[in-house]
Amino acid sequence: MPELPEVEAIRRKLAPRLKGKRIRGVHILRASVTKPQPPPLLQELATGRTVRKVYRRGKNLFVELSGGYTIRVHLRMTGDLYLSRAVELPASVRLWLELGGGGKLVFDDRRALGTVHVHSPEEVASLLSKLGPEPLSKDFTPERLAGAARRSSRPAKLFLMDQARVAGLGNIYAAEALHRAGIDPRKPARRIRPAQAKALHSAIVAVLRDAVKSATTTYTRPGDFGETESFPRVVYGREGEPCPVCGGRIRRIGQGGRSTYFCPACQK
Ligand SMILES: [Zn+2]
Repeated sequence: MPELPEVEAIRRKLAPRLKGKRIRGVHILRASVTKPQPPPLLQELATGRTVRKVYRRGKNLFVELSGGYTIRVHLRMTGDLYLSRAVELPASVRLWLELGGGGKLVFDDRRALGTVHVHSPEEVASLLSKLGPEPLSKDFTPERLAGAARRSSRPAKLFLMDQARVAGLGNIYAAEALHRAGIDPRKPARRIRPAQAKALHSAIVAVLRDAVKSATTTYTRPGDFGETESFPRVVYGREGEPCPVCGGRIRRIGQGGRSTYFCPACQK
């Protein structure tokens, strides 16, 4: 499930190879991938353009084109974006861009929940303004995190997953950061004390830094993420196993329709 670290790994891999490439054609194999935009819009606005840069904000990947338009890819649960020279593409491919020089930029998505949209500069600015600070940037400070937490009555885990609060944290790394900071995922965000907010800030940065490193080294070919990823998960997916800090049992609860893993002894 791609979160910030996986999207960042994909960006690092693609950015130098895509820069300067011309898009010769857009092949949309499943119309729902561009919803609610009609597929011809992407075809019309991207064809003939050149890739200026590839950047990431939160879990969004942006491919900025000459002429001002930007393609935005959101991988959701099973999306993957990679370069290929294969003649026959897998059945799970939803869309591909034909690149100058013969390569293909392929959007592969087994569960078909990911999206590919095209945006004007104004739309990109509006999208970016709705995202919270980038957790691995200078904008993300303990004070800013504490301030946002004070204004939220949601449980800490759901607060962290809100992309308007912190951009890029999902189910896995939110759980890991809360465990590292010793915060109960059910605790209302506004009750997080200043010292805890400071610990949470450090935990988020540390967890994501390690995870980006791990994802970047692990990501060698499409579909390579997931179970094979080497990032050591302390609580996520470990219900009933001993907590590596205190030896207590890790619990799983439901929050916002997803599983939350935590150690009731360590996390208060
Ligand atoms: Zn514990």
